[in-house]
Parts: sequence; C-alpha cells; structure tokens
Amino acid sequence: MGLINILDKATIDKIAAGEVVEKPESVVKELVENAIDAGAGHISVELRSGGTELIRVTDDGRGIAPEDVRNAFMPHATSKLSAIEDLLTINSLGFRGEALSSISAVSMTELITKCPSEVTGVRFCIEGGVETCYEEVGAPEGTTILVRSLFYNTPARKKFLKSAAAEGSAVSSLMEQFALSYPDISFQVKIGGKDILSTTGNGDLREVIYRVYGREISKELMPLEASRDGMRLSGYIAGPVIVRKNRSMEIFFVNGRPVHDRVLCRASEDGYAGFLMQHSFPFVVLSLTLPGDEVDVNVHPRKSEVRFMEENAVFSFVRSAVSDTLSGAQLIRRVRLEEFTPFMEKTGEDEPEPEPVKIPYVSPALPFEKKRISEEAFREELPESVSFPTEEEQPDFFSEGLLTRKAVDEYRFVGQVFKTFWVIEYHGEMLIIDQHAAHEKVKYERLMKGLKERKIPSQLCAPPVIVTLNSAQSHALKEYLKAFTDLGFEIEPFGENDYAIRAVPSDLYGLEEEELFISLLDEMSDTRLYSDISVLHDRLATMACKAAVKGNTVLSEAEARALIEELLSLEQPYNCPHGRPTMIRFSERELEKLFKRIV
Ligand code: ADP
Ligand code: MG
Repeated sequence: MGLINILDKATIDKIAAGEVVEKPESVVKELVENAIDAGAGHISVELRSGGTELIRVTDDGRGIAPEDVRNAFMPHATSKLSAIEDLLTINSLGFRGEALSSISAVSMTELITKCPSEVTGVRFCIEGGVETCYEEVGAPEGTTILVRSLFYNTPARKKFLKSAAAEGSAVSSLMEQFALSYPDISFQVKIGGKDILSTTGNGDLREVIYRVYGREISKELMPLEASRDGMRLSGYIAGPVIVRKNRSMEIFFVNGRPVHDRVLCRASEDGYAGFLMQHSFPFVVLSLTLPGDEVDVNVHPRKSEVRFMEENAVFSFVRSAVSDTLSGAQLIRRVRLEEFTPFMEKTGEDEPEPEPVKIPYVSPALPFEKKRISEEAFREELPESVSFPTEEEQPDFFSEGLLTRKAVDEYRFVGQVFKTFWVIEYHGEMLIIDQHAAHEKVKYERLMKGLKERKIPSQLCAPPVIVTLNSAQSHALKEYLKAFTDLGFEIEPFGENDYAIRAVPSDLYGLEEEELFISLLDEMSDTRLYSDISVLHDRLATMACKAAVKGNTVLSEAEARALIEELLSLEQPYNCPHGRPTMIRFSERELEKLFKRIV
C-alpha cells in the first residue's frame, strides 16, 4: 500500500488556518483590521482568559450584507481585491480573504452584523468551519464577532500558547499600536474584565500617546511634519531625554499599517545621532505615507513588514525629517524648581526630611512606566501636559540670541567649580556648562563640519599602521575608499589583504588607529544604507568622545573661554554627541525662589 495520503479538506483548512491564526493576538489583529477596513469609528475589543475563552470585536462599520455573510467565511473570500493588478495599489489592510475562514476553522465563531441598508441583522455561527446557525436578528449597525474556545480542535497549537497574562499583554500592545495608528478611531479595550485602554477618536495623536504612555513622555513630545517627493511623514518624536534600551518605542506606520521595518528604525536612529547615547533608542511614533506602488506590503504573511522600492530615498527623507525636528527644538535644559529642594535646617519634629537635591540628567535614561489614568485625571492633567514647551519653561532666551557671536561677547565668565563645570552669567540666567560634554560636542561638530566641507585635517602615522582585513572588510574598503579619504584617512594597499594606514583624521589622533579603522569598516559592510555620510554619525560620536578630554582636568581661563565660545557658536550646543546635556541653567528668579527671597 502506498504511503501518501491526500489530506481531507478539514485538515488542510486547519493547517492553513494555523499560518494566519497563531495566537489570540493574531485573531484580534485580523478582526480589528477588518473593522477598520469597514470604516468603523468605534471599535471595542474584549478578551477573556487571554483570548482562549473569548475574543470579542465590535465595530460600527458598514456591516456585511446578508447574502455575503456565508461567503465571508470561505477561504480566499474578500471584497477588497478582485484581480492581481489590484495588489499594487491596494489601500485596505486585509485582502487575502483568509482571516475569517481561518479563525472559524479553529474556534467557535459567532457573527452578528447589520448593514445600514437592511432592516434587520444576521446572526451566523460556525464551529470548526461548520455552519451551525444562520438567523435574522435585531442588531445595531456594524459587526460583532465573538471567537470562543480558540484552538479547541487544534490542541497542538493550543499547547504553544503562553499564559493568559502574556497573551493578554500582547493584545494590549497591539491595541496600543492601533490606537496610535488611528487617532480618528475610538478604541475601547477590556482584558480579563479590566478596562485597559480607551481613546476618544478625536484625531489628536498627542492625546493618544498621553493615554498610552503617560505624562512623562507626552510632555517631551515634538511634532514632526515633513514631505518630499510624494512621501509624507508625520507624528511625534520625544526629546532625547526619553530613551529606551531597545526598539520597542520606535513605532512606525506605512500607509496606515503598523510595520516593523529596519530601514525606518535605522533612519530615525540616525536622525537622533548627536542627541542620543550609544545603544539607546528613541521614542518615535511616525506615520509614513507614500504612493501604493512604491511600497510592497505583501512581503510578510501578517503584513508587518514592507519593502520600499526606493529604500535610500525613504531612508534619507526620514533621517533628515527627524534630525531637523530635533535641531529645531530648543533642547537646552531648564532646571525646574520642583527638581531642587534646598537644604533647610531642621527646626522641629514634624518638619519633613529634606529631599536630596536631584540633579537632572544624571542619567538621561528616564525610565518610564506606562501610566493608566482615569478620565478625570486625564482631563485635569491634559492642558499642561500637552502644551510643550510652555512659555514658563522656554522663555524667549533664544530669540534674544544667546547663541550668536555677539552673545558670545556678552556673557560673563564666573569661574570653574569641581574642576569640571564652568559657571557663566548671561542676561539674568546662570548657565552651568559641563566641560567634558562641551569638549566632546565641540570636537564632534568640528569633525562633522570638516566632513561636510571635505576639509578634515589629517595627521600622519609614523610608522604607518598595517592592518589585515577579512574579505567583507576589504570589499567595504574598496567600495567606500573615497569616504575614508574624505574622513581624513590615507590608506594604501600593502600586499594581499593588508593595508597601510598612513594618516588618520587629526581630531582622532592618539586613538587606537587600527581599532578605529576596523570598526568603521565593519559598520559600513554591515549596512546597505550607506548612501551618504549619515551612517557614520554614531561612530564619529564614539570616537570624538574617546578623544575628548576627560572631566577633572583643570583648564586655564583662556582655554575654557575658547571652548565656551566655540560651543556657544554651534548650531546645536545643548547636547553632547551622546545626548547628555552640555549645559543647564537657572534664572535669577529661580535662584531667588530657592533662597525664599520671593515665593
Ligand atoms: P479580507 O479582510 O482579507 O478581505 P477576511 O477573511 O478578513 O478577508 O474577511 C472577508 C470579508 O468579510 C472581507 O473582505 C469583508 O468584505 C468582510 N468583513 C469581514 N469583517 C468585516 C467587518 N467587521 N465589517 C464589514 N465587513 C467585514
Ligand atoms: Mg481581513
């Protein structure tokens, strides 16, 4: 007897279903996408027992016509695509027509739907792919889908589910993404009986960010709007004070679809170069729209990956939009009074212990907790938290032009403290400048400027340093030899895989030439995105940092003045290349307040 069996239809359906429906999160994703495609303004999601007991998605969209109800559950049934040509221009989220058939194959599914044009609605039940009821019912306009006993007939799949809490939390982050992606839609999410997320659908992305991530982040947000060559980028990015150790807060949408995309991540991170520390990642929520034929969304079965036709154009557009937004923002740190509590003499028993003085930016990694808040608290907090920067926090210090050559002549150098900080006075403000950060910043900017103007002074290495490269490295070197020369390197072949480094950029002289060169090469062979010098920002930052003077060096007043002047003449003097601030400031008024001269 032969060994080959032809699988029956039910088995085939279950296997296919497993590819679309992996876990509760994927069910929710498909159902919510359907609701969005149906033009819903209100979508509510409920989950019980991590989704294995119940997943409910209700929308107020256009509903499914009675004659379409059964079809909607057939494999490859879709109202969104009729020919292969449509694939290039499709704008709806779903189009494979697999979701409802797959979900109903592995659960007990119930659908209640009503179109505006119909008098009554339809209730349709289907269990493990088999229809069990179809009846007319009274129903509000829109669609509700109830998915019960998920994977009841595929125990192998069920075994792979994580705890209810873990599955629930995956759904909760998914719904946050949807909420961020569609500020015009109101989302309500209930998991295990608890209201997890609620948005108003009033179109205000900043408000959604506030509701999802809380006040700490929302008060650091900067709006971003940019367009170029038919592409448009909009959303919010947080100032460099908000950092993460991974990419979890880099959120992107391409033509409305949440995506994980390497090009977009790299581009934004590069946009932050000079603002963020190494190995830290920014908070961005950005939505990119571009013509449907310039992006392939069909790369990944769950459509979370995309491929851009003009990868380099997208990269450079996103990178410069982010970096322009950051440089446009006035990032100098104003010390807020509530962060300082002056030391007071203890006068009585019930006097509270004075809090230690908290110096802001000791660590720029402000940990942030997701904050869930009540409606009332939200309303109360909103006005302050969503207006950034407030005038109180950002007076017209800059329009007065601290950072012009003229201003440089007008400051008064007060002195140095702790061999590390310089104090200067300017127009009723006291600035405290961190010597190390300032030096780093100045070196970094010199390098970057030299790079732009192709005028990086070189320093000869005598004797030359001989390095041996592997094939990827020598390939990268051949490809980018000119870039290295522009950087101030002088490199010559020296036998088979060996090269002689005869000169290095002079601002970096004194570093391990070999290590520096090799790490740059690795960086470049690692990325296909080296279309301009942008990818090198990160590396330069590290190198400038290494070469910069350390704190604890006493500088003469003349040296200090020269550095301050150079710092203040920079376009963006407020942060060192790693994102640490180079200066903080107090107004005269704030000092008076601290000394209780005024209240
Ligand atoms: P796809 O979304 O890829 O078309 P689905 O299996 O997810 O495939 O859905 C099949 C069809 O059912 C959709 O094309 C749509 O016409 C209809 N449909 C599904 N969900 C909804 C909904 N919430 N509101 C209106 N129509 C829906
Ligand atoms: Mg769908």
